[in-house]
Amino acid sequence: MDVMWILWDALLVGVPALVALWLVRVWGREHASDRIPVLCYHRLTSKADLDSGRLVDDEPVWTVLDTEFAAQLDHLQEAGYETLDLDAVMAIKRGERPAPAKGVVITFDDGYESVLRLGAPLLQARGQTAVVYALLQPDSYTTGQVEGVDRICTHDEIVALQEAGLQIGSHSMTHAILSDLPADKLKWEVETSRRELAELTGRTVDHFCIPRGGVSKAVVDAVRAAGYQTCSGRAKGTARLSDDWLELPRIAVERHHTAAAFRGLLTPRKAFVHKVLGDLRLIPTRLFGARWGRKLRSVLYGPALGWLFSPRHVKRLLLLAGAGYVLAVAHLVSRRFL
Ligand SMILES: [Zn+2]
Repeated sequence: MDVMWILWDALLVGVPALVALWLVRVWGREHASDRIPVLCYHRLTSKADLDSGRLVDDEPVWTVLDTEFAAQLDHLQEAGYETLDLDAVMAIKRGERPAPAKGVVITFDDGYESVLRLGAPLLQARGQTAVVYALLQPDSYTTGQVEGVDRICTHDEIVALQEAGLQIGSHSMTHAILSDLPADKLKWEVETSRRELAELTGRTVDHFCIPRGGVSKAVVDAVRAAGYQTCSGRAKGTARLSDDWLELPRIAVERHHTAAAFRGLLTPRKAFVHKVLGDLRLIPTRLFGARWGRKLRSVLYGPALGWLFSPRHVKRLLLLAGAGYVLAVAHLVSRRFL
């Protein structure tokens, strides 16, 4: 019985202590001096097309209005951020060029045509740049997701993105969930996309983005073995220059973000919340693996329960859990000692 009590006490003290340590660590990371936000976008949607009814696009998350994107670029400029591509960041890390007072990296996943049509001119007009993680042979799931609203760039359009001053990275060949693939298929997705994109663009392709959350140690190892210098996946939060950029965290910019929310994402305090929420959302995948984790996540964070996990409600849930914890400890102490 005594052993059970000791174990119970250890659990009661240990689990919250670990959570507190994790929170302190994340808080410290987000307040580091060498922080550099890497923003993650997907598609852009033309506000003029929406307003005129030429386009119906009610995707709530994975797109940003072109007008909002322009305002965000203006804000970055006004706030003194220099936009860097990932080669520039690597050069800074190697000490070959000085770090700007404030640096930011803009990334686009999947390589949508809207990024070439709407995004590239906005970036060019301001002398800013971005990285596009492109797909050479997108699968039907991926092309089907945006049918009627957008499409994945053709090979010629990928070249056009580069000619517009954007940097091309790889997002695999097909957009498969890499952690589900056997070793030979994984190798093909990672290595062949690097080689064929380099042939297409005439430049080395050193930057990879793991599609659809399919992150595992084997995937990161394959990316490293293929010779990539950076790799982003599902990790959230602000990157640091001193990090290993093969596990690059990013900050997701989504359609529902207001101008104030966007400005907030660049600050340590809001980026902290973004990272904590991002990590909490990964718990199902960490506990049950990619396949079951995804199913559980779609239930937990889908339309039915998703509102519970908004920043405002998470604060309440954490407070409630904290209060419950204090009550439970008080109850146990009173039973044992009083
Ligand atoms: Zn993707």
